[in-house]
Amino acid sequence: MLSVDNIEVVYNGVIRAVQGVSLEVPDKSVVALLGANGAGKSSVLRAISGLLGMQRGKLVAGSISLDGQRIERMETSKIVRLGLAQVLEGRRIFASLTIEENLRAGGFSSRDSAATRQTYERIMALFPVLSERRKQQAGYLSGGEQQMLAIGRAMMAGPRILLLDEPSLGLAPFLVQQIRDIIAQINAEGTAVLLVEQNASMALSVATHGYIMETGKLVLSQSAAEMLADDQVKRFYLGLNEAGTKRDYGRFKDKAVRQAEKAERKQVGV
Ligand code: ATP
Repeated sequence: MLSVDNIEVVYNGVIRAVQGVSLEVPDKSVVALLGANGAGKSSVLRAISGLLGMQRGKLVAGSISLDGQRIERMETSKIVRLGLAQVLEGRRIFASLTIEENLRAGGFSSRDSAATRQTYERIMALFPVLSERRKQQAGYLSGGEQQMLAIGRAMMAGPRILLLDEPSLGLAPFLVQQIRDIIAQINAEGTAVLLVEQNASMALSVATHGYIMETGKLVLSQSAAEMLADDQVKRFYLGLNEAGTKRDYGRFKDKAVRQAEKAERKQVGV
């Protein structure tokens, strides 16, 4: 179980991005962390995986523990060895390396090569589209395939908990569905997932519990079923209409996201 207790995150010594956030990710669960742009979701993930320093951020209060062991002062590499891996926002893959090389780069924390091989084959089975193209350069993959590769690479470390930062960002709806199914499959195989998403309907369709953040604070903690059943929550916090789709999504959508979606559709011919 991952347990975050009353954490506070500050950037550049002044910007208080997270204020008193507590949450839990039980073993083998999928938990969604939702909220608008800038609410502080990524900062919570960075605090958990020890990546705040890279962004001139600091955990100034609170504690984080993994199966009872405190991890908030640990190096990221040690946290990964304890079984927690993160897929960063924006599909950071090595474009000039092949798919296979990208995946091998993710297995760095595992010293047992037989186990690494087994994990590699499991990931190939999970992502047939990557398996077919394992010798090709990753830079030629479409946006959705690159997201799958980024998830696959994190899975190479054999995590018990996977942190995902907006895996659906910029993807066409049918690819969002595929990513959702992959999250469900990874979870069915025993890995717990903390899923940060702006796509609330996708996240809540796979999660058991949801948290909503607003300007650095948690404003709601409920089961996913309760959130989806509450029209007020859907309307005010999640921006969803009765059909469960995002209202005015196109209007608010970032230009870069729209362009990425267009390129993706062109690439896959829809
Ligand atoms: P998004 O969906 O846009 O990633 P988010 O909910 O993940 O949003 P964060 O990225 O955690 O939000 O940002 C929370 C707040 O902290 C925002 O006000 C943001 O401007 C600020 N912030 C984030 N990273 C930094 C940084 N490296 N330096 C300064 N301020 C930052």
